[in-house]
Amino acid sequence: MLGCLLRGGCGPVVCLWTLLLPLVSLHRLNQHGLRDHSVPDRPKLLLVSFDGFRWDYVDRVPTPNFHSLMNEGVTVEQVENAYITKTFPDHYSLVTGLYAETHGIVANEMYDPTLNRSFSMETDSIYDSRWWEEAVPLWVTIQKAGGRSGAAMWPGSDVKIHGLYPTQYLPYNASVSFETRVERIIEWLSAPKEEAVDFGVLYWEEPDKSGHSLGPQSPRMDAVIVDIDEKLGFLINELKKARLYETVNLIVTSDHGMTQLFSDKIIELDEYVSRDLYTWVDKSPVVGILPKEGKLEEVYSKLVDANPNMVAYKKKDIPEHFHYRHNIRIMPIILEAKEGWTIVQNRTAPFMLGNHGYDNTLRSMQPVFVARGPAFRRDYVKISMRSVDIYPLMCHILAIHPLPNNGSLLNVKDLLSQQPTPSTPSIPPRVKEYSYAPVMGSFFGVLMVVGFLVVYIRQVTLKQLPSLKHRSREMSQPLLQEDLHL
Ligand SMILES: [Zn+2]
Repeated sequence: MLGCLLRGGCGPVVCLWTLLLPLVSLHRLNQHGLRDHSVPDRPKLLLVSFDGFRWDYVDRVPTPNFHSLMNEGVTVEQVENAYITKTFPDHYSLVTGLYAETHGIVANEMYDPTLNRSFSMETDSIYDSRWWEEAVPLWVTIQKAGGRSGAAMWPGSDVKIHGLYPTQYLPYNASVSFETRVERIIEWLSAPKEEAVDFGVLYWEEPDKSGHSLGPQSPRMDAVIVDIDEKLGFLINELKKARLYETVNLIVTSDHGMTQLFSDKIIELDEYVSRDLYTWVDKSPVVGILPKEGKLEEVYSKLVDANPNMVAYKKKDIPEHFHYRHNIRIMPIILEAKEGWTIVQNRTAPFMLGNHGYDNTLRSMQPVFVARGPAFRRDYVKISMRSVDIYPLMCHILAIHPLPNNGSLLNVKDLLSQQPTPSTPSIPPRVKEYSYAPVMGSFFGVLMVVGFLVVYIRQVTLKQLPSLKHRSREMSQPLLQEDLHL
């Protein structure tokens, strides 16, 4: 090649390309012209919630699919979820690692005095981003770090939060079957590398719906639990068919449990306080009471000793361990029913045979937790953890730095197959933009090298080749002097 340069016997473009080629190959471009940083694949994680699946349902009837996961992975027997033990607050705690007072979804029904807006899981009010933006769900965090997420009906996942929806998501529609939700999730997880999601969330409304209408003690709940186990089996089979089962980390859990209600355990507020004195904000068993202007003391005094099966708290007196005090959306008075009791204004209100929302230390309020995959130990049973610990666990598995949260990886690191190091490495964000900068940099770098080589070789040949001896000394001298200094 040097001979080629000296003789001028081949085109300069060809010669330069010969030099450029190895440098360009350091910055390989993929078929889409994107930079390939040789970043390791981010581990994949699928978080599944069967709403209202109480921790002990797995031993109530044969549930071979749950038990298969338990044998091949980890089980946590007691998961203390976040207060209040309701669907929207607890699902948001799972993906933020925050208690409700911090993430701001403090109930299924809320009133925000600053926004002067009401929130209800039954209305389109849930699509107002402002309710959700006191926290950042994991799917947003992972996308901001260059990853991708996919959500099938998880509460809040079809709401724009901090400017983002999940990379792939299904707008909430209760009539979409579980099987369809699974098929979409599998599609997203198994897409080509540049499009596949790293983190998936999958939600199913049962056994919560049946638990409310039948009551958890009903023998008819057995068939509902068997059906959930079969649905889990469908998910496992689809993961296997897509060759994802050995690579995807799977967490199967729930937001809360369920307890039996009784028609003779009803507390009627109309017996104790006039409706003119307050606004009823949230439903039983933790009722949010907004007293009318100047009526706080009066309402509280009428409720505080009203019924032995109900506790009335002024907001400032809500027990510390509930982590349920420091948010404007928590009402000035909350009423908490004892387990199995229902608070209504009067008996014309619809009555359910099962409910949740009670004290999160009650075993009946606690959800199932099983997990399996390369990140988890096999056949391991842990006694207890908090549901807010699941968020740092998921961040660790996904190799992403967690945002400030109420959980702790230390509390759950024994679930992992490999113990985390003090500073958990994270995978740098993928760079998606087209970039020719490395090629241009290499090009100019090579030009400089080639220029230098030409000059150097010319000096050498001036000294060594007889045919060049008759060149002007004046022209060549500076070069020769420079050459001597080398
Ligand atoms: Zn729920």
